[in-house]
Amino acid sequence: KSEFLSTMSHELRTPLNAIEGFTSIMLGNMGVDLGPQARKMVERISANSKRLLSLINDILDLSRIESGRMELVSEPITPAAFTERIQKQMSALADTKRLAFTTSVDPELPPTVYGDEEAISKIAINLVGNAIKFTANGSVAMNVRKDGNQWAIEVSDTGIGIPPHAREFIFDEFRQVDSTSKREFGGTGLGLAIVQKLTRMMGGQVQLESEVGKGSKFTVLLPLNSTPSVN
Ligand code: ADP
Repeated sequence: KSEFLSTMSHELRTPLNAIEGFTSIMLGNMGVDLGPQARKMVERISANSKRLLSLINDILDLSRIESGRMELVSEPITPAAFTERIQKQMSALADTKRLAFTTSVDPELPPTVYGDEEAISKIAINLVGNAIKFTANGSVAMNVRKDGNQWAIEVSDTGIGIPPHAREFIFDEFRQVDSTSKREFGGTGLGLAIVQKLTRMMGGQVQLESEVGKGSKFTVLLPLNSTPSVN
């Protein structure tokens, strides 16, 4: 099943990338004049193909993890540069919702830690993306700190919060707090499954604290490797 999914996902991505590419050319006014109505339609094609692409990328990631074909590397990561990159990448999204997005890096952390930067970025982007999505007012923060012999990526928000009964199942695939057809937030329920599986593969764990109506805090704890780990 995993192999089928991974092949299928790959085959689906190629045509989707073409749709994405051509719609952005059209929207970028490169040689195409669109009237206002046509522009709206192309914008919707673009938004929907982006959604589909991100769903397929998530399914591809999950099937790779599950089939054991996702190999993690142990490479040097500079926590300060990593944090700055996430800040740059996610601040536009926070801006669109007029939310403050702040980051901090604990000076106690060694300048270089070892791990798989791509996997850790995926985790951070998923958590920050969720924090922004489920927050209407206030702020989102990502704090990276040392925690004993681990390092923690802590993402907190002042959003809708997560009720106690949902705090376990939201980490399962396709599970969301609100799964009714009247659901107001987009998404497929794969992000946290990916976050948890990647974290566990790296020997870490995910913690969640939340209060309904006040906000949530997800903490990803990862082993603090100051030298490359040998697998
Ligand atoms: P998606 O965001 O695509 O729905 P996820 O797996 O990332 O899927 O999250 C699963 C569910 O967990 C979300 O649908 C939402 O109900 C809940 N959730 C995740 N992060 C937050 C958050 N920061 N605040 C409130 N609810 C959250």
